[in-house]
Amino acid sequence: MLVTAISVLYMTAKVSTMVMTNIQQYFPNPTEESAFIVKTASTLATLGFNSENTLPVISVCRDEICSSFISAIEASWGKSFSLGGLAGLPFGGKMEMTVANNHAPDIHDRKRLVIYAMVHIGFGPQGEVGGCVRPGMKELNSACGALIAYSGYTKDEDKELNRIFTDDGEYGLLIYRMEKAIKPGDNNLLEVTSAALAVIQQDIDRLTSKVIDPHQTDIAIITGTQIHLPGENLVQPSHCWTLINNQRQDINFIA
Ligand SMILES: [Zn+2]
Repeated sequence: MLVTAISVLYMTAKVSTMVMTNIQQYFPNPTEESAFIVKTASTLATLGFNSENTLPVISVCRDEICSSFISAIEASWGKSFSLGGLAGLPFGGKMEMTVANNHAPDIHDRKRLVIYAMVHIGFGPQGEVGGCVRPGMKELNSACGALIAYSGYTKDEDKELNRIFTDDGEYGLLIYRMEKAIKPGDNNLLEVTSAALAVIQQDIDRLTSKVIDPHQTDIAIITGTQIHLPGENLVQPSHCWTLINNQRQDINFIA
């Protein structure tokens, strides 16, 4: 009973101003996730994207704490197409990007996709990096678990093929992609998270350039970091851009 009460307190209490100031050293412009989605939708509406002519595509981690972000996107854009996997990396790849493009509404002047691709990280009540309060759990948990595992990963070549082709394929792919960006073992979680976001951005860039015909489909790409605090989820936007009528333009969603 006491544990439940503490969990509820954690879930509803917000971090102190001092803790928030520390977090803003790393993420200077965080916005509450629902407000962020509304802002992106209203900005993109001025560029021709709306819930009737646009399919939302989402690449976020499988973690249940990312689900409210998906709900917020679907509240603005309608039912979404899932592209992502562990840590938010777009493991659906070229195949699923192609399918998403095939599913985009085509009864209007052009097809349109809006792609939200995010890495994520938790902070505990005292600003513990990687800490995550989860309902019903006695102790402070963590996020992103896959990136924390990668931070402590020790390479074992003999196990790698087994890992990819048997029981842990997606984590094996995560190791393969992340090793090109940052070596495991001697980095902190903030550095690994930043590297994972760079991987997500590179992969989304490459996949869209391979799959999307810019003469037929307009796209909006929104990347950043989901930040989980006790009682609230925030978004720190990063690189965001549109490709409309084959013209690429950056968008700044920072308030
Ligand atoms: Zn995760």
